[in-house]
Amino acid sequence: MLIYGKEIRARMTVRLKEAFKAHALGLAIVCVGDDPASLAYVRSVMKYGQELGVRCRFVHLAHNVPEDTVINAIDELNGASSIHGIMIHAPLPEGLSAERIIQRISPAKDAEGVQHVNQGRLLERCGVVKPCTPKAVVRILKEHDISLAGRKICVIGRSRIVGAPLSMMLMDEDATVTLCHSRTRNLKQETLAADIIVSATGHIGLVTVDMVRPESIVIDVGTSFDENGKMHGDAHPAVAEKAAILSAVPGGVGSITVPELFDNLLILAGIS
Ligand code: NAD
Repeated sequence: MLIYGKEIRARMTVRLKEAFKAHALGLAIVCVGDDPASLAYVRSVMKYGQELGVRCRFVHLAHNVPEDTVINAIDELNGASSIHGIMIHAPLPEGLSAERIIQRISPAKDAEGVQHVNQGRLLERCGVVKPCTPKAVVRILKEHDISLAGRKICVIGRSRIVGAPLSMMLMDEDATVTLCHSRTRNLKQETLAADIIVSATGHIGLVTVDMVRPESIVIDVGTSFDENGKMHGDAHPAVAEKAAILSAVPGGVGSITVPELFDNLLILAGIS
């Protein structure tokens, strides 16, 4: 069965609109370069923010800008009282140190939960602001009344923005987590042993029908495009016929990620 994030997004939108009506907050979105897909994504984030009543400031810098110009822009946003959260759109152009730039964001304005202080807090189990995509995965599971405590969860992908923090967050929900990656020897053995599979690799069709059981719950984080520009997830479409649940791509986790960004803005402002 395919599940979608539309209703969860709609409920979050109602709650977020109410909160932002009572609290005027600002989000800065920093984008370096003119990649059309990146600009389209940033525009969609700004449009959603405006729908919520958030003041979104778009900081658009040329692709060949010196790194110190980006750093100075972040310093200015860190000090701006009208800005409560900062998002740096990734990937950054080659030649810029993403690490230096992201770490320059004040932990108090880190809207994506990617700054070292906030990642450390997650490890210490006192995380306040958490990365948006893992939050969306946990929310989609909970909102579908899928219990996590004591369940075996196989997370595929160990990136710092999705797989690794998600594993921590699922452990905090008392799940037994197996974190798999490109060097995992027998992925099928791991997915078949799991109650819940979360795949975040960007590898189209990685999770095949023989890797799931009829009772498996599969959350697909992957978003990749084929040569015709069509979006695909990590799971082969036939998985939806066999597994109990497969989250749709597009329309699943991805539809909740942007609302999670604005939820983080409220958290940073101490409101949510
Ligand atoms: P990444 O490239 O940083 O990490 C990919 C991970 O997948 C790595 O840990 C790698 O070891 C693992 N991997 C790759 N091939 C594998 C294989 N054959 N078997 C097992 N593991 C394998 O990517 P990322 O930034 O974590 O993103 C992962 C996917 O999630 C991408 O498709 C990305 O577009 C998507 N994504 C979606 C959202 C959303 O809102 N829906 C947000 C962020 C990322």
